[in-house]
Amino acid sequence: MQPVRVSFLGTGDAFSAAGRHHASYLVAGGGSTFLLDCGATTLASLKRGGIDATAIDLILISHLHGDHFCGLPFLFLEYLFERPRQRPLRIAGPPGTEERVHALFRAAYKELAAKPLPFALEFTEMPPDQPVTFGPVHVEPFRVPHQEREISLGLRVGVAGRTLLYSGDTGWTDELIVRSADTDLFICECCFFDTRVPFHLDYPRIADQRTRFGTKRLILTHLGREVLARRHEVDIELAAEGLTIEV
Ligand SMILES: [Zn+2]
Ligand SMILES: [Zn+2]
Repeated sequence: MQPVRVSFLGTGDAFSAAGRHHASYLVAGGGSTFLLDCGATTLASLKRGGIDATAIDLILISHLHGDHFCGLPFLFLEYLFERPRQRPLRIAGPPGTEERVHALFRAAYKELAAKPLPFALEFTEMPPDQPVTFGPVHVEPFRVPHQEREISLGLRVGVAGRTLLYSGDTGWTDELIVRSADTDLFICECCFFDTRVPFHLDYPRIADQRTRFGTKRLILTHLGREVLARRHEVDIELAAEGLTIEV
């Protein structure tokens, strides 16, 4: 089996703790290259890593917070001017994604957004618990506790015989145990160390539950100031900016 490559483009929280970039992970395998999330700094992350933005076929968005989807207008700009694109681009996210992405592009570049793009922008909205397939990529979206009314998704993704779990942003839920069963990689948010809130995860909570995750490799990301300050106390793998692994 060919390996699946996962690049950790942005591993910081919304506050860009320690200068880390916003959430984005590039996955390549099974003939597909796709992003998990596209935070505001994603184009910078791609260029920093020498990664060709035109290779991206699909963008999966966990939830409509700026540090997870506000990189899209800059990618559109790249595809308009720097690396002209004709191939369609598919964006899949929680209900409301299409409207919010159009509104975001209009807010950022009003005149450009008023004209048709030279490539088709295709949207798939993913209600929780309705699995969907994009070519070789199989996605099981599930709701996680992060926003009150808006839907935030965790994503269990199958590609090229591997299974990845991405928590998105979430508070603690036993769904993370259930969904991590038989996964090759679990990319899990870890915003906090000392602070405990119902809508994000903290390191002590994850460490407590560590043995219940059925994953081969757990990597913590979306790292905030508290976690980075106490990283010497952490004995779970922390994502590094630009880290690329094979699973
Ligand atoms: Zn969020
Ligand atoms: Zn976030």
